[in-house]
Amino acid sequence: MMTATQTRPTDIRQAVILCGGIGSRLGALTEAALKPLLPVAETPFLERLLFEIGRFGLDRILFLAAHRADDIRAFAAEACPRLGLTFEIAVEPDRAGTGGALWHARDHLDPVFFLFNGDSWFDVNLLDLATRLEPDDLAVLALREVEDAARYGTVTVDGPRVRRFAEKTGSSAPGLVNGGIYVVRRDLVDALSPSCSLEANGLAPLAETGRIAGRRYDGFFIDIGIPSDFERAQHAIPAAQRRPAVFLDRDGVLNEDRHYVGEIERFCWLPGAQEAVKTLNDAGVFVFVVTNQAGVARGFYDEAAVNRLHAFMQAELRTIGAHIDAFRYCPYHPDGTVLAYARPSDWRKPAPGMILDLLSHWPVDTARSFLVGDQDHDVAAAHAAGLAGYKIAGGESLDELVRARLASA
Ligand SMILES: [Mg+2]
Repeated sequence: MMTATQTRPTDIRQAVILCGGIGSRLGALTEAALKPLLPVAETPFLERLLFEIGRFGLDRILFLAAHRADDIRAFAAEACPRLGLTFEIAVEPDRAGTGGALWHARDHLDPVFFLFNGDSWFDVNLLDLATRLEPDDLAVLALREVEDAARYGTVTVDGPRVRRFAEKTGSSAPGLVNGGIYVVRRDLVDALSPSCSLEANGLAPLAETGRIAGRRYDGFFIDIGIPSDFERAQHAIPAAQRRPAVFLDRDGVLNEDRHYVGEIERFCWLPGAQEAVKTLNDAGVFVFVVTNQAGVARGFYDEAAVNRLHAFMQAELRTIGAHIDAFRYCPYHPDGTVLAYARPSDWRKPAPGMILDLLSHWPVDTARSFLVGDQDHDVAAAHAAGLAGYKIAGGESLDELVRARLASA
């Protein structure tokens, strides 16, 4: 049901994952396990995909399952809570096809949702893709240029419009292909039937009417559906998931340092700050905030206020297709007036505790990582954690600084 206020695509929280494929091209491998659940360096492929989905704030998962739905259910019950995700499972009849899977799940779909193939991974800034969905579009697809498009159907684009979907030709030639990630309006389901192919029966005819958009990205892309790529995935996926990270101080780097900023009303982005986060997201690096918040120890505001402010920052960033992967703050100070927080802490910069905690929870390539702060104690914390650290000057654009650092890395 459409409501008066349209859901903004960047507000999407639902990720729908197609898990119903039979996986016949993998032969004996998929007799042992369902294709999305096959291990990639000892971790189920689907868990690696969920990690990537969850870090963009998509925290409600709908698995579209068919054959071996109980395996998906058992996996989800164990993995989703651990990853901070909630989940539902919709079970379609066998061989309903990708379009049929959506048709059968239509009562579980949000007005706008992300759709993922459960057996491929394309490393794109998901929130950027969401910003590309225009009001009249029924879907926007992430597209990838590949050297050998023989295994895939190709797509023809005209600017931001997808005009045509071509069947697999089988001939080895470069081509633009559907990368298996979509932002979809639920209204698209009206074009589907209980048993059909999403691409051939839904997207292709809709593309001819100009209602399907596409956006080209050049991130890491792999489809584990054939044995040689499943083999390659074993080292290539963990390597691609180990990313550089940029650690950002908050006050004086992202927002004006007005001393003890605890309320949203006193928060003011610095010029170039939001753009910098977007630049880093587009470059495929992790973005973390590490901030001393002695205002909690001094009784100026509480931890709930800090968390509210960080949620506000995320919401603002999402509107431009950007996000922060994780926040760490230190509420302690030795001279605090609030007893519970009046103590030294190895999280308080110049100590490196916040950075070390992030490094222990995220797969970070530290050699290619750096911190940006506005104080000497920020840079000292970076060095203590074994990272490069840079001080931003007053008036300097964070976006220009990170672009220069990414270019020289
Ligand atoms: Mg600062």
